[in-house]
Amino acid sequence: MKKSIILIALILLGTHLYAENAYDYKLKPKKVSDNIWCFFGALESPTKANAGNMVNSCYIKTKKSFVVIDSGPSYQYALQAYTAMRKIAKFPVTTVIVTHEHDDHWLGNNYYKETFGAKLLGPASVDENYKEGDQTRMFQRLPKNAIKGTKIVKLDQHITKETTLQEGGELFEITPVGQTAHTTEDIFIYLPKRKVMFAGDLVMNGRITSNRDGSVIGQLFAHKLLRSKPWDILIPGHGFITDKTAMDESSQYFSLLKKRVLKALDEDIEADKVTTYVNMNEFQDKALFKELNGRNILDAFLELELVEEE
Ligand SMILES: [Zn+2]
Repeated sequence: MKKSIILIALILLGTHLYAENAYDYKLKPKKVSDNIWCFFGALESPTKANAGNMVNSCYIKTKKSFVVIDSGPSYQYALQAYTAMRKIAKFPVTTVIVTHEHDDHWLGNNYYKETFGAKLLGPASVDENYKEGDQTRMFQRLPKNAIKGTKIVKLDQHITKETTLQEGGELFEITPVGQTAHTTEDIFIYLPKRKVMFAGDLVMNGRITSNRDGSVIGQLFAHKLLRSKPWDILIPGHGFITDKTAMDESSQYFSLLKKRVLKALDEDIEADKVTTYVNMNEFQDKALFKELNGRNILDAFLELELVEEE
């Protein structure tokens, strides 16, 4: 008898400590349209201090459920996002759509899978490049009390062609870009009834993008696809601007980058000189300019150099 009381006391103490020790993301949903809320992350790289809260994650409320677009950087993040959304509607999350393979966008998946048996949709590259137990970027950078509980789980369905999803009176048009843009496989999601576009990292604003896995030509092609839908609101993968101007900064960045790197190639600038030759100073006040802009110029040079040779 005594032993079991001690055991129960220990379990209660354990859960209490667990709850108390978990990283507090302080997530507050922001309404962006009827039935749509997003959690907007900081314009920073993932650090111990922000615990990966530097990405956007959105909830769409249907008649009977929530659909989540990008589940965020950790199990704890997803748990806390749902705890906040549950105050708006006590609905289960039936579906999670992942926009691309970067792990700040989908490591919350196992929370939704374990809690609701949610169906996980996304590009095949997520499953091809990440396996259970991999120490991905978030596992390395996030504090222990934020990454705790996070597990890599497989997606249930790969989006390889234009797909529609009907859920509680809401139609989701899910489109893969079809060529390398921000990553080898990016998808975007459009809600025709609400004229809302979820662009993933094909669009960022207020900060410089990281094009390390991407393509300048592919990004510009993806932007054409995004503009072919009549959206009024666009949610970027990172950034706070969601109105008609949401894409402008990104489009301008990639078109100027392409133009200026092509000019450098025309003038026979060598790879080791290109980052000082190409000037992107219009963007120098954007977040992460120092960290990412030079690498983007060099990557653009290596990509466009090959295109020129063809
Ligand atoms: Zn990304």
